[in-house]
Amino acid sequence: MKNNWNEAEVTSIKDDLLALRVYTSQLQGKEEDLVLHGGGNTSVKILEKNVFGEEEEILYVKGSGWDLATIKKEGFAPVKMDRLLKMAELPELSDMDMVKYQRTAMTDPGAPNPSVEAILHAIIPFRFVDHTHADAVVTISNTPDGEERIQEIYGKHMLIVPYVMPGFILAKKIYDMTKDLDWSTIEGMILLNHGIFTFHNDAKISYDNMIKNVSLAEEYLQSHKALPLTPESAKETDTLRLAQIRKSISDLGGKAVMAKLNRSGQAIAYSNLKKVAEISDRGPLTPDHIIRTKRTPLLLQTPGSTDLDAYVAAYGKYFSENTPGELTQLVPTPQWAVWPGHGTISFGNSAKNMQIIEDISNHTMKAIYQAEQLGGWTALPEKDLFEMEYWSLEQAKLKKAGKSKEMQGKVALVTGAASGIGKACVDALVAEGAAVTALDINPQISETFGSDSVLGLKCDVTNSDQLEEAIKETIIRFGGLDMIVLNAGIFPKSMTIKDMDASTWSKCIDINLTSQQRLMQLAIPYLELGIDPSIVIIGSKNVPAPGPGASAYSVAKAGLTQLARVAAMELGGKGIRVNVIHPNAVYDTAIWTDEVLQARAKHYGLTVEEYTTNNVLKKEVTSKDVAQLALSMLGSVFGKTTGAQVPIDGGNERII
Ligand code: ZN
Repeated sequence: MKNNWNEAEVTSIKDDLLALRVYTSQLQGKEEDLVLHGGGNTSVKILEKNVFGEEEEILYVKGSGWDLATIKKEGFAPVKMDRLLKMAELPELSDMDMVKYQRTAMTDPGAPNPSVEAILHAIIPFRFVDHTHADAVVTISNTPDGEERIQEIYGKHMLIVPYVMPGFILAKKIYDMTKDLDWSTIEGMILLNHGIFTFHNDAKISYDNMIKNVSLAEEYLQSHKALPLTPESAKETDTLRLAQIRKSISDLGGKAVMAKLNRSGQAIAYSNLKKVAEISDRGPLTPDHIIRTKRTPLLLQTPGSTDLDAYVAAYGKYFSENTPGELTQLVPTPQWAVWPGHGTISFGNSAKNMQIIEDISNHTMKAIYQAEQLGGWTALPEKDLFEMEYWSLEQAKLKKAGKSKEMQGKVALVTGAASGIGKACVDALVAEGAAVTALDINPQISETFGSDSVLGLKCDVTNSDQLEEAIKETIIRFGGLDMIVLNAGIFPKSMTIKDMDASTWSKCIDINLTSQQRLMQLAIPYLELGIDPSIVIIGSKNVPAPGPGASAYSVAKAGLTQLARVAAMELGGKGIRVNVIHPNAVYDTAIWTDEVLQARAKHYGLTVEEYTTNNVLKKEVTSKDVAQLALSMLGSVFGKTTGAQVPIDGGNERII
C-alpha cells in the first residue's frame, strides 16, 4: 500500500492539529482498500481553554454521517475527554445511552454525533488515533487459522483483540485488556474480523504505521499466493431477465428498487466460480457491511427458478432463529445478487446506494477469493452478524432515513433531454428520486446533468438500433424501465401545403411521429415489467388548434396523439397508462430559436412580447411548468387516468 503523505501539503498546517487530523483522515479515506463509504474512524486529542478560561482536553472524533475521504474540520465532534474516560469505567452501558451521554459531553451542540467508537479512541493514550477496516488484514483474519496468521504477522508489535460488537462492548473489552499494558510497546491493534487501529502523538507516524502494517498483510497475501481473480468477459446480457428480477424484488419488498449490473472482469470471474453458491453463503467481509449488503447475496442459478423465494425463506429462518423476540424483521429481499456468467447485481432505491453496494461487493469478492486460497473464507458466525444487522444504533440510522420520495427507486427515459421541456422533465424526475436515461442527438447530453442518477446517451431517435441500445443500457444501469417521456421533436420553418417540400415533410413525420412509435414499441416489453408504468407524450396545442403554415408539425403531433389513444387502449390491460400533454407557447425550448419565434409572431401580426403571453391568463408557460405536469401524470395524481389530453397553454380561446 502506497504511503501518500506529502510534506508540501502539510507545511502550512504543521501547528494546526485538527487540520493535520483532516489531512491524514482523507488520505486513508481515499484508499478504498482501507475503508469504504463511511467506514473507519479517526480522532485527535487537543487541549483547549473553555469560556471560563479553564483548560480542557477534547477528543475530536469522526462524526457520524461523515466519510473519511471527504471529511472536513466540522465533521469532527468535540467531546470532553474526562467524561469519556469516566464512561469507560462503567460496568455496562447500553449503546443508546452511550450515544446520549456522548452527545451531552460535547462542547459544541451543533456538531455531528460522535462515532460509536469515541470511548475507545479516548482510552488510547496517544494524540492521534486511526482506525480502518483494511481489506488485507480482515481477509487474513477471516480464514480458519486467521488468528494464528495474524499472530505470526503482528504478534510482537500489535495488540490482537478477539471479535466483539463495536460500541461500548468493544471499548470496555479493550479497556480491560490494556489496564496493565505498557502502550509504548505496541504500534496498534488488530481487531479480528473487523479492522486495525494505529496511534501516535505524531499524525504522520500514526498514518505511517497504518500504511506499514496494512502493507504487511498485503505482502503476506502475495507471498502465500492468495491472489486476486483473473478477469473474465461477460456473456451478452439478458436484459429482460434482469428487468424481471428487479420487478420481483420490488414486488416482494413492497416498494420500487433499481438494479445495477456489474460486468467487471472480476465480477464475471467470481460469478463463474464452481463454488460460488457455497462461498457466497458464508457472510460479509466486515460485519458493518451487513447493513448495506445483508448477510448473503441472492444466487441466480437457473432461469425462471424460485431462487428468490428460497432466499426470502432462508432470511426468514435466519431471523426467527436469531431474534431475541422483540425485533421486527427487515424487508427480506436481497441487496445484491450473483448471476453466473453475467456478473453481479446491486439493488437499491437510488443510483448512489446501488454504487455503495457494488463497491462493497467488489471488495468482498476479492477478499473471499483470496481467503479461499488461505484455507477457506470464514466469516463471523450468524449470531454475531445478526446482532450487527439488528443493532439498535443501525436500526435507528435506517429509521432516520425518512420518508422516500414519490419516484424513489423508479426508472424513466426521456427523449430530447438536452434542453427545454426534456431537460426540465429529467430534473423534475431526479428531484423526486427517479433515475433517468436522458437521450438527445446532441453529444453534450453525456455531461449535461453530472449526476449518478442520470445516464446521458447520445441517440438519434430515428435510428432503431440506437434506440434499442439505449434501452438495453438503461436496463443494465438501472435494472428496468417504468416511465417514458416522448418529447424529442423538431419544428420546421413555416411552409404552406402548396410550397411544402417532400424532405421537410418526411423528416418532420419521421422524427416527431415514426421514431416515437418505434421507441414505444421497443420499450413495451420492459414497461410490462415496470412499476406503475406510465407513458407521457408531449403533444402540442396544434393538435386541437392547428395554425396555417405548420402542416407537417401539426399532422405529426396529431398522429402522435392518436398513437397515444390507441396505446392507452392496448396497454391499459397491463396497467400501463398513456397520457398526452398539449403545451403551447413554451419558448425556453430548443425548437424556439429567435428566428422561429420572430417568424411566428410576425405571422400573427404580434410583437414577440405580445406573442409570448398571448393567452387567457396572460401568463408565460415555461419548460418547468410542463415538466411538473409530466411528473404528475407519471405519478399517483394521474394513477387512474389514461388516454387523457391535458393542455398547458395559459388558456387558449380556440380550445376552451
Ligand atoms: Zn470499525
